[in-house]
Amino acid sequence: MVEAYLSLGSNMGERAYHLREALSLLDQIEGINVTKVSSIYETAPIGYTDQDPFLNLCAKVETSLAPHDLLHRCLDVERRLHRVREIRWGPRTCDIDIILYGDEQIDDNELTVPHPRMRERAFVIIPLQEIAPRAVEPVLHQAIGEIQAPDDEVEVYREG
Ligand code: ADP
Ligand code: MG
Repeated sequence: MVEAYLSLGSNMGERAYHLREALSLLDQIEGINVTKVSSIYETAPIGYTDQDPFLNLCAKVETSLAPHDLLHRCLDVERRLHRVREIRWGPRTCDIDIILYGDEQIDDNELTVPHPRMRERAFVIIPLQEIAPRAVEPVLHQAIGEIQAPDDEVEVYREG
């Protein structure tokens, strides 16, 4: 079993529902157990900014799947949630990224792990620090809790 960390985001429709549904679908997959989930955070969009704010969270999974198999299962879950992929970094029902996969470093056409933009994204670093301050980012051998989060606005989201 490998400990991997995923980042989930949604900014269309019932955002919190999409995140919960994605976690539930992931956990039902053979070889993936969702073992820890951060709070939900609300984040202003970056990149293509003319869109609604995102809800984001990070989840720890224990997995017996190889990295690319885990990626394909994550992409299946995105598809099952009817993600619309028209604009890069545009609106989406659900985006699932692999942030860390144990201490592996992977970089090919399909998959880059650790996620290359994790340090630039407060919506990744802040929820990850909540659930895994002691996990180690294997490129710089730095504890997640030691990473300086970018100062974008990221707030804990309270439903209702
Ligand atoms: P982004 O997540 O950067 O906003 P997309 O979700 O549209 O953009 O990117 C989709 C592609 O990114 C996937 O098909 C996958 O092959 C590739 N990719 C590369 N590294 C990763 C990773 N660590 N996690 C998820 N997808 C990745
Ligand atoms: Mg993605």
